[in-house]
Amino acid sequence: MKKISVIGAGQMGNGIAHVLAQNDHPVTLIDIAQANLDKALTTISRNLDRQVAKELLTATDKQATLDRIATSTDLAKGVEHADLVVEAATENVDLKLKIFRDLDAAAPEGCILATNTSSISITRIAAVTKRPGQVIGMHFMNPVPVMKLVEVIRGYDTTDMVTTAVVDLSKAIGKVPVTVNDYAGFVANRILMPMINEAIQTLWQGVGGVEEIDTIMKLGMAHPMGPLQLADFIGLDTCLAILRVLHDGLGEPKYAPCPLLVQMVTSGKLGAKSGEGFYTHTPGNKDLAVAPAFR
Ligand code: NAD
Repeated sequence: MKKISVIGAGQMGNGIAHVLAQNDHPVTLIDIAQANLDKALTTISRNLDRQVAKELLTATDKQATLDRIATSTDLAKGVEHADLVVEAATENVDLKLKIFRDLDAAAPEGCILATNTSSISITRIAAVTKRPGQVIGMHFMNPVPVMKLVEVIRGYDTTDMVTTAVVDLSKAIGKVPVTVNDYAGFVANRILMPMINEAIQTLWQGVGGVEEIDTIMKLGMAHPMGPLQLADFIGLDTCLAILRVLHDGLGEPKYAPCPLLVQMVTSGKLGAKSGEGFYTHTPGNKDLAVAPAFR
């Protein structure tokens, strides 16, 4: 699997393109708007600069990595020569089903179609294609260049050959793949999202403030960041979408998203990517301030 197309140039898509290109894969990064692609290339360049500053990469390697990334706003053209497609568009079932129908029509016959979905059923996505055996979950963690895990999710029809190919690729790009089965939220988000949702409920009920909740979880449980900061980092829209998939897919009230989360997403407070969530976020500034609504 040499030539890889990545669909969606958001925070995950740019990270996935970065890591693949850094490991010698020609990558075509695809999004609906050129502005999103330009922004992604700027982010990748900035993240590569950090690796150069830490002497993990030379300036020549940085340029070679960037040179391996092409961009396209045309899905059909962007995947016509791909051996593998990794879809990392917005977490929305209808959108992903449409993308996979289009991908099935446009990608070469032997091409593997992977999705970076956090929670949506791989089997459901695979069912809209004529190649369900070649559809698989390849769930990278955020930030992709830093985090080691790839949760590999086998759909009902995913073949052993495709699973092995994705596991081998993950290892070859320096990641640690862990293979699991296809139930809502898989393993990572089935366990993580209820914790984040409970932290938001705890805030909503006034048990503690943003800093109190995050400090307790950081210092008390040795988590590298608190659940509210992590929610901001993941994207509150993405957290909400995942909780809805868990709630629908597993049918238990404990997965119902906290009304505060729903309200924040409705008002456009999406966390780091929109500049405000539980904290305010300024690009290039790592210092966090609690958002005005929670002071
Ligand atoms: P994001 O909002 O940062 O980016 C989504 C991108 O998809 C946007 O650039 C958008 O323009 C693009 N897009 C939307 N429709 C498209 C289409 N039809 N064709 C091409 N591009 C399209 O979201 P993200 O955080 O990068 O999440 C992307 C995927 O990765 C989701 O499925 C999410 O659940 C999953 N994921 C997210 C995280 C996280 O921490 N944010 C972690 C693991 C997996």
